[in-house]
Order: sequence, then C-alpha cells, then structure tokens
Amino acid sequence: SAQGLKIAKELGIPITLNYMDLLLIKGLDMIINLTGDPLITSELEKENKEGIDILGGLGARLLWDLVYTEKKREEKLYKKLELAVVKLNDMKNYLENILEHSADMIITTDTDMNIVSFNKGAEKILGYKREDVIGTDIKEIWFDKDEQRELTENVIKKGDVSSYETRFVTKGDGYIYISLTLSQLKDDSNKVIGTVGISKDITEKKKLEKELIESNQELENFVYTVSHDLKAPLRTIDGFATILLDDYKDKLDRDGRHYLARIRNAASHMGRLIRDLLELSRIGKVANPHTRVSVLDILNKVKEVLRYNLEDNKAELNIVSSLPSIRCDRVRMVQMLSNLISNAIKFVDKNKTPKIEIGYKDKKTYYEFYVKDNGIGIEMEYLSSIFDIFHRLHNSEEYGGTGIGLTIVKRIIELHNGNIWVKSKMGEGSTFYFTIPKD
Ligand code: ADP
Repeated sequence: SAQGLKIAKELGIPITLNYMDLLLIKGLDMIINLTGDPLITSELEKENKEGIDILGGLGARLLWDLVYTEKKREEKLYKKLELAVVKLNDMKNYLENILEHSADMIITTDTDMNIVSFNKGAEKILGYKREDVIGTDIKEIWFDKDEQRELTENVIKKGDVSSYETRFVTKGDGYIYISLTLSQLKDDSNKVIGTVGISKDITEKKKLEKELIESNQELENFVYTVSHDLKAPLRTIDGFATILLDDYKDKLDRDGRHYLARIRNAASHMGRLIRDLLELSRIGKVANPHTRVSVLDILNKVKEVLRYNLEDNKAELNIVSSLPSIRCDRVRMVQMLSNLISNAIKFVDKNKTPKIEIGYKDKKTYYEFYVKDNGIGIEMEYLSSIFDIFHRLHNSEEYGGTGIGLTIVKRIIELHNGNIWVKSKMGEGSTFYFTIPKD
C-alpha cells in the first residue's frame, strides 16, 4: 500500500516490485511477512538459499510492531541529541567568542607549559601573531625565566595564583608589566591538562607608581634641605632674643619683655616643627634593616621613652593580650607607637586620667593592632584628615603639637605595607588600628 511504501522509505527498507526479488538482495538478515498470507511465507522459504530468516503469522506482526516503535523512538532521541549538539556548539562558540575578544590576555598551555591557545587580547598586548607562538614554551615570553619555572610548577602541583604582578616580553624585546591570574586547566576526569592564564596590562599603573615614588623622594629631599637650612637662622633669632631678655632686661619695659618672650615661644614652636619635618623626611630616606622583634619589647622601649610623660599624667597603660612578634624596623616602630601613645595621653579631658589599652587580633596573613584611649574623641568628619600633614583640630593653647605626628605614624605603617585608621566617639575616646603583614 501507499502507506507501506512510505514507512519503508522512512525506515530505509528496500522496495521491490515482486516479493520474490527480496531473496536477491545481498546482506538481508530477515524478511517479515506482514501480509498475513501463509502461502507467501512458504513460497519464500522454498526459494531461500542465503539462510535469511523468514517470519510470518502473528510472530511477524509482533516483531514488526516492536521494530517499528523502537525505530521511531530512536529517531526522536536522535533528533533531540542533534539539537543538544547544536546548542552545545552555540554555547562553545559563544564562550570562545568571549575569550577571543576579551581585552584581557588569555593564554592556555599544556602541562609542559607549551602554549596551546593565545587570544586576540594577547596578540594586541604582546604584539605576537598567534601562529608564531602556539606550540612554543611559555618561558619564551616570560621575562624572568626562574620565576616562571617556580610559579608554573607551583600552579600545576598546588593550584591557582591570582593578581600576581610580573613581566612578559613583548615583540621586539621590550617588556610590559602584567597582573596575572594563573589556574589549572582540568579535563572531564579532573586531571590537570595544563594552565589557563588571564592577565591585565598594568604597565601604565606601574609607571605612575614609579613617578609617584620619585616625586615623593624629590619632595622629601626638598623638605630635608629646607628644614635643615632653617635651623641656623632660627637659632640666631632665638639666640638674640635670649640675649635681649638677659642683658637688656632693665632697659625694656613690660611690653617689650612680653613681646620678646613671645618671639622665643614662636621660635621654639618653629624648632619643633623643623625637627618633626626633618624626622618625617628622614623616614623615607634612612631605612633600618627589618628584624623580628616582639611587640612587647617595642612597648617596653616606648614606656621608657615616655616614662616622665606617663608618670606626670598618671596614665595607665594596659596591654591586653600576649603580643606576637613581627618583622619590622624596630626603631621606627618605637617611634610610631610613641607618637600614638603620647597623643592618647595628650588628648584627654583635663579632669580625667588617661587610660590606654593595647591589643591585637590575628588575621591570618597579618596582625591588626589597636591603641585605645579614653580621650576627647575625634569628630567623624576628621577621622581620615587627621593623618594629613599639619592637620590639627585644636589650637596650641589647648593642646600643643605640630600636626606632623600622625603623618609620621602613617608613613611608618605604609613603609611596613600596613594600613592605619581610627574609630572614635566624641567624649568617650578613640581607637587607632594598624595592620602589619606577617611576612
Ligand atoms: P599633634 O599631636 O602634633 O597635634 P598629630 O598629627 O599627632 O599632631 O595629630 C593630629 C590631630 O589629630 C591632633 O591635633 C588632634 O586634633 C587629633 N588627634 C590625634 N590623636 C588623637 C587622639 N588620641 N584623640 C583625639 N584626637 C586626636
């Protein structure tokens, strides 16, 4: 029937004009007689020389139904699979497109660190054509070969590194600074088959950093020279004011003596300013070696330095926890903590005695220390600006000072790659926090 022909075509079943011709088809396994006519079955069986299975009757009907529905199901499955493959391919193209057109440099390697893929970002940043670098060892484009070996071995064995700053060689033998995140590349069975590195060009940032360091250096040199040169004339002013006060006392009236006394006060304040400025500019210039010291030792030294200050003000210094040891410039640390603690003694209400607490928290990669006082507190809006040079919140009659102390503190912390900040409540006190990396 027409229906039968259609199904035969769909299922790829050979069609012949005469059913006896079926026996002539090479490689046929089975003939199923669906006509229900037993005569056809016996006729076929008689002529069957190739040993083809010939099935008739009810069995034929059952088998056919089975074959037919199975075949249909298979087809449906196959269509679904095809669709899934198309979708998967789309996804793959989509991801490849993202990788390819990312402005970041994306390079993958095998476990021998030979380059496997190299995206457009990499071509643009480094200047090589992909064809020229694929298959070559990544060390060819890595600036520091020893660092490369160590780093990549580590990544393959242990895992990822992120935001690692290093240099890559560009075409024409220059180099650029990059920030690299390198991870293991794994296959379906979780076996490491290479690495994938995603990097950003940070050359511009590095250049700015260098310029900033240079200009800071220049400024420090300038401050150093100026403050040094100011010392001599200041000494002259103070010297002659003293002579006037001593030797010409009788020739001067009360006002004259008062003005001279004020000149001497101003000269002494200027002397302190010059001394602090010199100190500030020295911090960047003179670096003492870093050694491992216990913070308790540092605090004992601070107590020694501030002994009279602590005693005169009846200040209590309470060290909360057993303090760790840190790698630091010991002299600068003593200076830094002396500044913080003398501020904690100084900025206290006149009718209170200073109570100062020192402690720390272990924060895995760094220590976070704090110096807490029961002083006058700092208004919210000034919490960050008090670290700026010459920034003072009070006049010198109320609380003396130069406004350089906290700038020195911050500078010392920065030189130790730490951070400093303060929290405060007016009238209740302030807590200065600073961090020091463990290594
Ligand atoms: P100085 O102490 O010479 O004035 P600093 O740089 O040490 O300069 O401090 C800047 C300003 O920050 C101080 O003038 C003061 O107003 C404020 N300050 C610093 N430490 C404290 C503190 N522990 N409590 C309250 N205010 C403080």
